[in-house]
Amino acid sequence: MSQTLKAVRGTRDLLPPETELWNRIEATARSVFARYHFGEIRTPIFEDTGLFARGVGAETDIVSKEMYTWEDRARAQSEKPQSLTLRPENTAGVVRAYIEHKLGESGQLQKLYYIGPQFRRERPQKGRYRQFFQIGAEVIGPQSSGSESPLRDAEVLEMLATLLDELGITGWTLQINSVGSSADRERYNAALREALIPVKEKMCADCQRRAELNPLRVLDCKVPEDQPIIETLPKIVDSLDQESKDHFAAVITALDAAGVPYTRNHRLVRGLDYYTRTTFEFTHGGLGAQNALLGGGRYDGLSENIGGPKAPGIGFAMGLDRLVLTLQAQEADQKSASPQGIDGYIAPMGNAKDAEKLAAINAAGLALARELRRAGLRIELGEGSFRLKKSFEAADKCARRIVILGEDELASGILTVKDFSTSVQTKVPRAELAEFLRN
Ligand code: AMP
Repeated sequence: MSQTLKAVRGTRDLLPPETELWNRIEATARSVFARYHFGEIRTPIFEDTGLFARGVGAETDIVSKEMYTWEDRARAQSEKPQSLTLRPENTAGVVRAYIEHKLGESGQLQKLYYIGPQFRRERPQKGRYRQFFQIGAEVIGPQSSGSESPLRDAEVLEMLATLLDELGITGWTLQINSVGSSADRERYNAALREALIPVKEKMCADCQRRAELNPLRVLDCKVPEDQPIIETLPKIVDSLDQESKDHFAAVITALDAAGVPYTRNHRLVRGLDYYTRTTFEFTHGGLGAQNALLGGGRYDGLSENIGGPKAPGIGFAMGLDRLVLTLQAQEADQKSASPQGIDGYIAPMGNAKDAEKLAAINAAGLALARELRRAGLRIELGEGSFRLKKSFEAADKCARRIVILGEDELASGILTVKDFSTSVQTKVPRAELAEFLRN
């Protein structure tokens, strides 16, 4: 016998009723984004590998270790095969599209959001998958559009706080930092490199490598033994120039005015190289080791890095998988997402031995289901050959109420409805059934 095929490690099928929760989260996000005047962008799932090497940074874990990359077949013999990559994140793709479609030429600020799968070859665990889903948004435009203003940073953070509140996620924490301009970061990298010389021998192999190539990444290290050493290293805030300090102060002032709570975390430098100035993460205690719900920051040089015009921007990406995990863990939401929410189960009661009558009662069931579904109700339709007990069992698993449709009910136009939560049985005229089930 041939081996059973399974979903590839790190990928998974999303099944009902969980998908209902996914849809609800996506709908809430779309509704919040619309109120803040964002439009949706959909970029390709794969891009030229060079986009991520130049956009995200060749030295980052994502690009150096985690990408799904392959050589596409060359179109002609004379051509070199193109290296393609499944997108590990979406900001680089959005900025590529911004450049390609000359969106900056309108002079307007572009506010774009996306929802879709991303791919990283990470070690799978709870909350970490190889195909995962992100909801993200970018605010980008020429300097004249005000894209560099700290107000944009604060507005994005305020929007995220609103979105998490509307999703019903309680207990989140916003951590915020500034990594300064690229000149500030160069200064800081030099200071870090210097400070790491006497201590790096005592650190993990990754940190020793980072200390040479990209010292900033040392701050991401999670190895417990390295933490006391990292605490003694210089802080980035001390390397910021006046402009960067003022920018960060203005973000903080606007957050305070809007009443958005935050914590400052001077080690928050994030895993992508394109960030400048504001960086942030929203974390949640209920998630365990993978506690980041979302992350983001400002990327004033990204467009130029990938060959575009100067276009400062700020954006974020939230892990949809992790929003789902968080909401599932919150009991109240679990209840509202459970299948008990289906409004009714129609049980046509026929006679399995009489094909003609069975077909007639099933047809009547379909007509009634159509009527109720068109009235906006969520209805499951049973099958006329089931015995009463089997219909009740099936209904109890998915619906709040069962509607009995036998020959007598069909003739009289009066249906029997039983409510599972109260066990009360009621006779309801067909014309009033939709209204009854709605309440
Ligand atoms: P990043 O693009 O690394 O800044 O990640 C942004 C957000 O995407 C994180 O805060 C997570 O919520 C989510 N995320 C990143 N990588 C994964 C993954 N492998 N599996 C599930 N969610 C992820």
